[in-house]
Amino acid sequence: MANSLSSLREMNRRMVTEAVRKAGSLTQAQLARTTGLSPATVSTIVRELRDLGILAITSGGGRRNAVTLAPETGLLVGIDFGHSHLRVAIGEVTRQVLAERAIPIDVDASAAEGLLAAELLVDELLETLGSERAEILGVGLGVPGPIDPLTGILGSSTILPGWVGINPALAMSERLGLAVHVDNDANLGALAEATWGAARGRQDVTYLKVASGVGASILIDGRVYRGASGAAGELGHITIDENGRLCRCGNRGCLETLAGGLYLTELVRATHGPGVTVPRLVELAAAGDVGCRRVIGDAGRHLGVAVASLCNILNPGLVVVGGALAEAGALLIDPILEVVHRLAIPSAAAVLTVVPGVLGERAGVLGALASVQVSNIESAL
Ligand SMILES: [Zn+2]
Repeated sequence: MANSLSSLREMNRRMVTEAVRKAGSLTQAQLARTTGLSPATVSTIVRELRDLGILAITSGGGRRNAVTLAPETGLLVGIDFGHSHLRVAIGEVTRQVLAERAIPIDVDASAAEGLLAAELLVDELLETLGSERAEILGVGLGVPGPIDPLTGILGSSTILPGWVGINPALAMSERLGLAVHVDNDANLGALAEATWGAARGRQDVTYLKVASGVGASILIDGRVYRGASGAAGELGHITIDENGRLCRCGNRGCLETLAGGLYLTELVRATHGPGVTVPRLVELAAAGDVGCRRVIGDAGRHLGVAVASLCNILNPGLVVVGGALAEAGALLIDPILEVVHRLAIPSAAAVLTVVPGVLGERAGVLGALASVQVSNIESAL
């Protein structure tokens, strides 16, 4: 009995905190309506959470007794490792970014060097703010590779060769002496776009990250859906052509071999030189280069095949496309939509909007910040 009462109380506390977190600010009457709890229960919970330092009650300023998240004095850190850059941001619990910096670094080559660079950058940003490590409440870390959900270890030798066998959260945690939450770049991009960007206020969203590789993250009711073993969203490795090219995952004809930047840049090497990167491919296409436009258009059509299947299974209202290739805008999005309307069941295709992400290369680090906030507040309950 005591157990079920305490779990009910915990559930109600989570519901109230979540409602405040999503809305930013609510009166107690609005909280009662939003959560379906009685005004008396809301009042009790708000008082308890205020005493725990999780919520704050502000009065005056036109909104009497508005309930907000407590203005904690602590700081959050977001760290985003790309294949060739490291970006660190420090923010408040209110999500305001206070300091941010990116440096070019060969992250793939060595985990130890990457982690050391991250540690130094965190300290450097803290110094510019006149703050110390002791003020940090939590750290979110993004890595561009698959993490084993059971062991937390990076497992692929071809995606991040210098990181094989490393547990990035543990290694970073040991360096900083702080709790570190790790996730892959697609999940963090989705959280960022849902918190600050193109999917703001939307609960059921699929985020596609089309950069060197192709990844996806599925948000259901505002949370990342991970599946039974953490592999949900591996859209880049669904089979489009059974007899197609060998993929780095060992399968043939994966979506990634038809739409991932690593493969697309190979297609234009013969005609445009060996140094073409994804941003350069996008730049050339935008300037009217017919070959580059064709390559991006074809990638869009292949992505459309996968998105059409996704529509029939999950029926999302919004797909946000991020990653370096998304900078191509309509050159990539229009072919995706064209194929979705051709292949998906009409009632699913009709409600789908596909838009490019708006956070660009900041999506990963902002998502890392957002991921700490969620786990920080949850662990306080
Ligand atoms: Zn694959």
